[in-house]
Amino acid sequence: MAVMNALCCECGNLRTCKRPRNRTYGSRPDGTERATGDLKCSACNRITRHALLSEAAVEYRDMFEIDDAWARGMPPGPDTYLGTNPKALADLRDTYRRAQPQNPFLSHIWFKSEADEARERGEATVRAYCGVWVPLPKDGGRDLTEQDYEPIARSEEYEGPDGEFWVDMDCVDCVRVANDRRRRRRAKQVADWLPWVTARVLNESLPTEDVDELHRALEVIVDRFRQRRTQQQ
Ligand SMILES: [Zn+2]
Ligand SMILES: [Zn+2]
Repeated sequence: MAVMNALCCECGNLRTCKRPRNRTYGSRPDGTERATGDLKCSACNRITRHALLSEAAVEYRDMFEIDDAWARGMPPGPDTYLGTNPKALADLRDTYRRAQPQNPFLSHIWFKSEADEARERGEATVRAYCGVWVPLPKDGGRDLTEQDYEPIARSEEYEGPDGEFWVDMDCVDCVRVANDRRRRRRAKQVADWLPWVTARVLNESLPTEDVDELHRALEVIVDRFRQRRTQQQ
């Protein structure tokens, strides 16, 4: 087993270790533990919990951040547990939102199709991109979808029932999901276009102005790539 670094959770003292006792990886956000184990700390002079800084555990490094993103509406990959278990994902999102106070003046967005289905089932709410349940618009109210999302910073404040102040603004979690969806859509388009364009470049059937346009765009990308590589060296 490889030697790894470990930080005492009591005093922050650094030591190395091989095989800590009672080792755990993660646990849910309510559990608060990450990769930890019991080790003797020379500064505390007793056995304490240590955070294990293991390269072997590198796949767990951002686990809580990833969990958090999923709970707030980002789509889990199709090969992950939550990606194949809609019920578990829904539970995670409900649990997460129940544990948080929510700004009642956030503007959320949702799928028109899901809103229509919910109406057909006679339901009063629909799940927004971010995982929050929002009331279905009725009496002439219309659904808010991605097309309605305009990134503007609004700043109107409202006083809540307990004297707290809320700002009327777009839900940043919904915005993140919308941006992620747009990024994926665009990436797919680019992947579809590239072979088409390459074939026409090769058989010289593209007008010169189109070749120039492509050259400008690709040159920027190649330059940026070279710069990043130089910086890394
Ligand atoms: Zn210590
Ligand atoms: Zn939202």
